[in-house]
Amino acid sequence: MGLLRIRQYGDPVLTKKATEVTEIDGKFVKLCQDMFDTMYDAPGIGLAGPQVGVLKRFFVYDFDGEPDVIINPEIVESDGEWTFAEGCLSIPGPHLEVVRPKTILLRCVNLDGDEIEFEADELHARVIQHETDHLDGVLFLDHLSPKMRQQALKTHAERVAELEAIAEGKVIGPDGQIVDQSDGSGIGSL
Ligand code: ZN
Repeated sequence: MGLLRIRQYGDPVLTKKATEVTEIDGKFVKLCQDMFDTMYDAPGIGLAGPQVGVLKRFFVYDFDGEPDVIINPEIVESDGEWTFAEGCLSIPGPHLEVVRPKTILLRCVNLDGDEIEFEADELHARVIQHETDHLDGVLFLDHLSPKMRQQALKTHAERVAELEAIAEGKVIGPDGQIVDQSDGSGIGSL
């Protein structure tokens, strides 16, 4: 199992535009496997290249037990509105409601190198939109009102302090164990 370091908010790689994937070789497939390991370990349901410091247009995701790799995605159509409390593995802490299109039509390349198109809606569409944003250096915070963004960053700063305290073993439970008060990441963390 290869765990990668998930780049955190403030890392300049998260605000850069990624370039197209031009070669799907063994090294790339191994990178995707390591990204799945990292995503499941986090835990989260999506992870984009820039989040592990690779500025290429691809991401891995699994929101329903069917893991998939999406390469060079392009959202060609979108429709409707859907509200969902999003979180981000690069911004631990806040989970806030973001309104985005409910249904999308995606054009992309799969791991076999074939160009494919499919429709996705609700959570499926949400994961794809969040991860595709990462490839353009856009974070879910950028979809929030200034007030909500400020609140999100405050929650994030508190969570970072909490994670540091846990890492230093300062948060001790009644039985002497190190306690991690989970921020509820998992289903909403992308
Ligand atoms: Zn994210």
